[in-house]
Amino acid sequence: MKLNVDSLVNKEREFIDFDLIDEVSNIEFSGIDYSLKSPVHISGRILRTGVNYKLKASVDFVLAGNCSRCLVDVDIPIEYNIDAYLMREEYDEGDYEDCDVFSIKGSTIDLLNLIDSTLSLNMPQRVLCSENCKGICSGCGVDLNFESCKCEDSIDIDDIDPRFAKLKELLK
Ligand SMILES: [Zn+2]
Ligand SMILES: [Zn+2]
Repeated sequence: MKLNVDSLVNKEREFIDFDLIDEVSNIEFSGIDYSLKSPVHISGRILRTGVNYKLKASVDFVLAGNCSRCLVDVDIPIEYNIDAYLMREEYDEGDYEDCDVFSIKGSTIDLLNLIDSTLSLNMPQRVLCSENCKGICSGCGVDLNFESCKCEDSIDIDDIDPRFAKLKELLK
């Protein structure tokens, strides 16, 4: 997913509009390898500003994830915009506090790299199969969406069994 910006470098053009789709099998994020359920799609415009560039793009794709309560497989739709400066010259980060800035070298821009670096801010905090997901019981491990908790039962058996045993002893 690379964009050649030669025509901006040699000032042939002021901007380049692009619309790219790439089949990527997985994306790593926070040490977790996510499989993709769709190709990565990025479209937008890259604009020359002096020797640097301004990028406005929208990104969309679907990740395969798990519900954070019941762990069932869920699709995570990712959709966000990148609004960033791509700097060919040295820059002072303090001047760009409110926006994304990336250093670029040469006349090729690796868009997948930009997606990797911007994904963290655009990942949903928490993925749920549904707002009402009841999750998995931490005691007995049943999926509470489909079964009722068995913790009560097992505690009862543990409590009663020894007493039953004693009662049986007395009845002998
Ligand atoms: Zn769930
Ligand atoms: Zn339980």
